[in-house]
Amino acid sequence: MADQLNIVWFKRDLRVHDHAPLAQACLSGPVLPLYIVEPGYWSLPDSSRRHWSFIHDCLGELHAELAARGAPLILRVGEAVDVFEALRQTFGTIKLWSHEETGNDWTFRRDKAVKVWCRAHSIAWHETPTNGVVRALKSRDNWAAQRSQRMTMPLVPAPDRIQAPIHVPSQPRPPKSDPMFGDEILFVQSGGRKEGLSALDSFLETRASKYMQTISKPGISARHCSRLSAHLAFGTLSSREVEQATRARLRDLTEPDPGMSDDDAQSFRKNLGAFLSRLAWRCHFMQKLEQQPEIEFHCTHPAFEGMREPHFNADFFEAWKSGHTGYPLIDAAMRSLHVNGWINFRMRAMLVSFASYHLWLDWRQTAPYVARLFTDYEPGIHLCQFQMQSGVTGINTLRIYSPVKQSLDHDPEGKFIRRYVPELFNVSTQWIHEPWRMPEPPADYPSPIVNHDRAMQFARAQIAARRKKPDFQVEARKVVNKLASRAKHTDRDPPRKKPVSPKPKTQLSFDL
Ligand SMILES: Cc1cc2nc3c(=O)[nH]c(=O)nc-3n(C[C@H](O)[C@H](O)[C@H](O)COP(=O)(O)OP(=O)(O)OC[C@H]3O[C@@H](n4cnc5c(N)ncnc54)[C@H](O)[C@@H]3O)c2cc1C
Repeated sequence: MADQLNIVWFKRDLRVHDHAPLAQACLSGPVLPLYIVEPGYWSLPDSSRRHWSFIHDCLGELHAELAARGAPLILRVGEAVDVFEALRQTFGTIKLWSHEETGNDWTFRRDKAVKVWCRAHSIAWHETPTNGVVRALKSRDNWAAQRSQRMTMPLVPAPDRIQAPIHVPSQPRPPKSDPMFGDEILFVQSGGRKEGLSALDSFLETRASKYMQTISKPGISARHCSRLSAHLAFGTLSSREVEQATRARLRDLTEPDPGMSDDDAQSFRKNLGAFLSRLAWRCHFMQKLEQQPEIEFHCTHPAFEGMREPHFNADFFEAWKSGHTGYPLIDAAMRSLHVNGWINFRMRAMLVSFASYHLWLDWRQTAPYVARLFTDYEPGIHLCQFQMQSGVTGINTLRIYSPVKQSLDHDPEGKFIRRYVPELFNVSTQWIHEPWRMPEPPADYPSPIVNHDRAMQFARAQIAARRKKPDFQVEARKVVNKLASRAKHTDRDPPRKKPVSPKPKTQLSFDL
């Protein structure tokens, strides 16, 4: 009988470097590298053509890397169990290799179905961790140490040669324009490992020098943030290799360098330290989803169920989605997201805070919409951040961002606003943050959709009432024990500096 066939199932790990399942499968016999385009997945409300476009680039490069080693990528369109069953019928005995995935409910249920199918046919499925997420974790107490240990493990070299099975035809890669992937989109960041490595290099060499200084600025942050999120989400780079490259650069920065002053080297090191924290937050949030997949559909703290759902205002939702709320920075952030598929952390948080508090929209409606716009959609981070920025975890400090204060702080001259909201292009800096106060506001730009102060008061009162309910603290403690980080700040967005504007517009941040 022919050697057993080893199927390496590529999912959100589109690389051959530091890919343990591929390396292990190569030791076991002939390898069939497989990517499955699953129509069920692509019809979900949180998947989009933007994601496919990025993946499409990645698959092109992955195919070339694999082919150069002897076993080209085989692509199949269909549901996973059907695809595996067809391969089983062709090859008889197979073994399955993949990384563990912490995805949405659909991929979780699909993996369960694959497991059932494997069991029914006595097929071994070897799954390997891909980042800091620990499956079946009993307690969060030691999680940080386990993650650190994983991050320091040596990288797995890409195999030199891959023994291919007899010729297996691949289906063509569906084009980026295939209607299966949903609506048309504008620009998409290029995918593929070369792009990922180039972003990593330029960030570590130069761009990180202004990382923390610009991280919250809506325009310039696009240049000084790493822009690795989509590469990490689809695995063109492994989180371990990004972490190790950053630590190596940190070590270099302790050596005397005639091209850099000590102060600059120290500031660069601080920036890289902040970046490393975010890489850890990434795993931390994904770990939460791994432990509690229900957070895709339910508030982390049950007291917040039913709070916003009955009040859903479809007109508000439309205005927010299209960037016509009458708050310039909100509209500019949303419109820029439509164009670029990326915005910085602060703008993401502000957009969600505005939708959840000011417009009182349920996060379950807004989260999938934005997931489709983000090239870097990563369910674990996304869902946790949506819940946090909507005040429904019961354990995090509530932050209600004032759109006007954010605008004054982070786009003081209104450059970003003018770039994305052409109706305000000729508005002077004096009025750009609050055009409704102008003697003659632009006729083609809407008045504010809600009154900021009244909306905040309403939201605060609603949330306070829920927090006063009997048993609120008991439930909150359960959430802390199960999911919360044991480290300072790990669970939050970056610790905030005191406001610098002389008299800040009201911004609400309260611990109840
Ligand atoms: C409502 C909301 C939704 C978000 N959804 C996503 C998402 O779907 N996918 C995603 O990758 N990030 C998400 N983030 C986190 C963050 O905004 C992005 O990771 C970041 O802006 C990506 O740009 P970057 O790679 O240049 O980040 P950098 O600042 O260079 O950070 C490096 C990496 O660290 C991780 N990271 C950074 N910030 C955070 C954070 N606050 N929490 C967890 N991990 C972090 C990301 O993997 C990122 O690529 C979300 C934030 C909010 C407020």
